Order: sequence, then structure tokens, then C-alpha cells
Amino acid sequence: MLRYPVYLDYSSTTPCDERVLETTLPYFTKFFGNASSRSHAFGWRADTAVEAARKSVASLIGADPKEIVFTSGSTEGCNLALRGVFEMYASKGNHIITTKTEHKAVLDTCKILQKKGAEVTFLNVSKDGIVDTEELKAAIKPETILIAVMYANNETGVVQPVKEIGAIAKQHNILFFSDATQAVGKIPVNVEQDHIDILALSAHKIYGPKGVGALYVRRRNPRVKLAAQITGGAQENNLRSGTLNVPAIVGLGRACEICRAEMPEEAARLNDLRNQLQLELLKIDESYVNGSLEHRLPQICNISFRSLSSSQLLSVLNKTLAVSSGSACTSGSLDPSFVLKAMGIEDGLARGSIRFSIGRFTNREEIDFAITEVKKAVEKLRNESFEWTLFQKGKTR
Ligand SMILES: *Cc1c(COP(=O)(O)O)cnc(C)c1O
Repeated sequence: MLRYPVYLDYSSTTPCDERVLETTLPYFTKFFGNASSRSHAFGWRADTAVEAARKSVASLIGADPKEIVFTSGSTEGCNLALRGVFEMYASKGNHIITTKTEHKAVLDTCKILQKKGAEVTFLNVSKDGIVDTEELKAAIKPETILIAVMYANNETGVVQPVKEIGAIAKQHNILFFSDATQAVGKIPVNVEQDHIDILALSAHKIYGPKGVGALYVRRRNPRVKLAAQITGGAQENNLRSGTLNVPAIVGLGRACEICRAEMPEEAARLNDLRNQLQLELLKIDESYVNGSLEHRLPQICNISFRSLSSSQLLSVLNKTLAVSSGSACTSGSLDPSFVLKAMGIEDGLARGSIRFSIGRFTNREEIDFAITEVKKAVEKLRNESFEWTLFQKGKTR
């Protein structure tokens, strides 16, 4: 039995895994202590749980537990990384290199830093959505203090050449920050192999609770220093003050453990399902996949349908399917996605793009259902579309 609407928007958020939920519950009631309370058993118990979670997060990304700072999620992580580096390394320089296809948490923060005196280079991406490492090298100056390139894009799933970028940053003694929110838990991410100095991840994208995440901050070779953005009780090594959200942190830890154990199998299964969905949707006339097919997460596909607008499609589909036109943060806007624009996708196609993102609880039946629904919706809308009629005429002329 299918439950409606079928959820194919895992990149905007995921349901909490029941196993994760179960692990968190005792920390709301029985073990409610403040992890900073050093004088009694309630505090010790909470602290022990937090440290166990820190270990689980660290081992998913090849880090040391001491390098993990708990945050409220990736938006905060990106802010702490960018603002923290900009303030701390002001005497070294003011230049930041990033890309045009970052999440708004990075782009908007960079724009604010520009007003505070930062010089920011926004790198172009290819038609495939990938950064040109030669262009990156050419952008490096003596004042460059940070390279910020996301691991995988949230709208297209395109995976950047992170290892290569990390090596370039290292070679030039520049810090490398990667927003890995979409990649962690889905594909292997390793801060040592990838030469990453700072990395942001979020629990609600990996079947954990909302409002919790972590920032990896390298401690040796080099030791990264960040200026704290939230000050107070000196928790988290003085990098992020505030009483720790123990149940959420415990949940993030459990979510990481499950991802680590199940990643190979899950990725293979989702890759098959995604490919099936993509194969069938591409049988629709004038439909195209956006972004590299080769360097892409296994669970996302972004498809454009000519002569349609995403909002039209979504309003027909939303009774039976939960999908989106791009990121949840920019949905509602009528403009074509800035990510697709940066990739140079023509407006006529960028306007009619849909992101399908699947996950742990997606099954074959849901994929088959989605294929039927999308085919029906596209056909219906095109039958009513003047633009489509014109396009068809143009082809035969
Ligand atoms: C979801 C997401 C964010 C924001 O994460 P929150 O934890 O919701 O603040 C940042 N970057 C990317 C790539 C994302 O997918």
C-alpha cells in the first residue's frame, strides 16, 4: 500500500530513523542532565553520551573526536566556518574563494562578509556543474585565506573534485572548507584523504533530528583557529557556547553509526532506484538531466522538462508526490534556479526543472508510481501549453 503523497524530497530533509529516535528518548527524561555539570552523576551521564556521539560523528568522516564541534546544523556550521576564518585570519588576508552554486548558507554569508571588507571570488562551474580547478588556481592570491567549495550540490547532486581542491589549498597554505551536508552519510567522505580543514554536516539530512549538526575543525597539520560566533559558557572548546542539546546530539551520533554501517548497501540500492526513475523520465520528449552523470550522488536526479514551469508541474504533482524545484530555501520563487543558471542551462529548460531525491525508505513501488504520475502531469500540461505547441511547430518547419 502506498501512502500519499509519496516523499521524493529527501535532500530537503529526511524522516528520523526509528532507531535514532529510540536512542534519543531516554535523554529527554531519565538522563536529562546538563553535559557541562561536572559535580554529579546526571551531568556525567549526559557528558558520556555526548562524547560517545562525538566519536561516532568523527569516525564517519575520518576525524578525531576532538575535532568535532556540535552546532545547530549546517547553516550555523557554514556561518562559523566563514565568519570564524574571516575574523581569525584577518591579519593574513581578506580573500575568500567560493563557487556560484553553493548553498545560500555560504553564498549569503559571503555577501555579508563582502560588506565587512572581504574580497570574495565566486567561481563559475561547467555545464556539468563542476568547478574548474585551473580557474581555482588562477584565482589564488597572497591574500587568499579560505577556499569554500561544497562537497555535493543539494539541487543536482553533482560532486565536486574535493580531493583535488583540497590538495591545491594545502599546496598554497590556504584553508579548505567544504559544506558536505549532502554528501556525508551518502558517499565516503574522509577529511584526511580529501585534505579538508573544516567541514559542515547536518543530522536531519542523514535520518537524524532537525536542529543539530557538527562542524569538523582540523587540529593538526594545520591547527585551524576560528573566532567563536556564539559566546558564553565556553562549551565546545569555547567555539560554540550554549548548553548542549544532548538528546539531539545522541541522535546525530546514532544516525552517523547507521550511515557508516549501511552506506555501501544503501547507496547501491538507491543508485539503482534513481537510475530506473531517470531512465523512464528521460523517455519523455524534451527532458534532460541537469549536471554530471558521472560525478553525482546516488540518490538525486534533477530533470528539466521543456516548455513547462516547475511551479506548474509541482502544483499538478503535489497531491500525489512530494518533490521540489530545487532547494527548499528558494522554492516559492518563480525565477529559474541560480544553480542551473550558473551551469549555463538555457532559461527555457531551467524554468521547468524538478529535483527528485530519494532515500532510505523509498521503495520500488514508489518509484514506479512517481514515473507514472510525472509522465501524466507532463503530458497534461503540454497539451495545454501554447509554448509547447510553438516548439513542436518550430521543429517541423
Ligand atoms: C540543508 C543544507 C544546508 C543547511 O543545513 P541546515 O542543517 O538545515 O541548516 C546547507 N548546505 C547544504 C548543501 C544543504 O543541503
